Amino acid sequence: MTAKGHSERPAVGPEMEDLGIVEDGAIAVSDGKIIAAGKSSELLSNYTAAERIDATGRVVMPGFVDAHTHLVFAGSRERELELKIKGAGYMKILQEGGGILSTVRDTRRATKEDLLHICRERCNNLMLHGTTTIEAKSGYGLTLDDEIKSLEVIMQLDQEGPTNLVPTFLGAHAIPPEYQGKTGEYATLICEKWIPEIAKRKLASFCDVFCEKDVFEIEDSRRILLAGKRQGLVPRIHADEFYPLGGAELAAEVGAVSADHLLHVSTAGLTRMRASGVIATLLPAAPLTLMVDKYADARRMISEGIPVALGSDLSPSCWLENFQLVIQLACYKLRMTPAEALTGATINAAHSIMKANEIGSIEAGKKANILILNAPDFRFLGYRLGMNLVDTVLIDGKTVVRGGHLA
Ligand code: ZN
Repeated sequence: MTAKGHSERPAVGPEMEDLGIVEDGAIAVSDGKIIAAGKSSELLSNYTAAERIDATGRVVMPGFVDAHTHLVFAGSRERELELKIKGAGYMKILQEGGGILSTVRDTRRATKEDLLHICRERCNNLMLHGTTTIEAKSGYGLTLDDEIKSLEVIMQLDQEGPTNLVPTFLGAHAIPPEYQGKTGEYATLICEKWIPEIAKRKLASFCDVFCEKDVFEIEDSRRILLAGKRQGLVPRIHADEFYPLGGAELAAEVGAVSADHLLHVSTAGLTRMRASGVIATLLPAAPLTLMVDKYADARRMISEGIPVALGSDLSPSCWLENFQLVIQLACYKLRMTPAEALTGATINAAHSIMKANEIGSIEAGKKANILILNAPDFRFLGYRLGMNLVDTVLIDGKTVVRGGHLA
């Protein structure tokens, strides 16, 4: 069983190793919340319960928090796999009208009902593999109406439950076909028209930008993130994924809660992130699926005291619904220890989406979002590849997965 006392600030450095494991532990839940956690001997004498779940010999831990997904998309891009294998990069596929732009066509064509249907099933898949909270971005609509449609899908799925969703506006995900060669004009439209409308409708908590060379460069990214911030949308940013553009520095400058990817982050960028408390949300499945042999330098970030969180980067280019694979890649490709990876997948990811007061650890007062694993030790999450080790999932105290199946 794991508990963790980092609700006030994310775990950094050696703190990421400390899961606060209680051997032979128990959790008392009432009204969807954890009311006590500790030794079984103490809890069993202090509490009675109408329902008891026996987890003898198994790991009990907080639900995974996926801090970075592009959940809302229609269609699929399986044909790009061969292009990638033959060596075409992300930007080349994009420049040829594939990649994001083909998903934009499919997502625009889909109705809100279509997207709800698709994403409901996707959320169930995530939940079956242990994800209980999902940061979900728009960004395949790229018209105001289609971005609103995507954000409304996220809001509705959160209201329906059982998974909890946190909406991020990512109108600046790519330059839509109508604005090719007119990036500045498109950025102005986002700043002046779209962000105020989305904020007025309370459709997003965060504003994100795909800050990258030849997409939204620093000046446009800054304008968009600051426009969002003025309207109450907290900045987060796709930073320095393909090129050391200065996305991490910008994240620190605008007060972003998280800078994501960071494969090519500069030394200055890391220093500024640390000084400003920006969380590094790392997405090891992204370089894997792009067939790039470069991964973020998680060891350096951890040793420099930067909090590291993890995300799946679920998208049509990186279709990953089993968060346990993210933990495995964090171990094998980022050289994070299993304990660090679990901290990145729970409490630090909760900080990355500003929900650490509610989720991410097993502590009294938090939502009872709890996993029971078919494993005797948490290290199995990093060690046993490709299996679904999740037996039971509770969200808000309700059993939503039992025996590995939807309850
Ligand atoms: Zn992304």
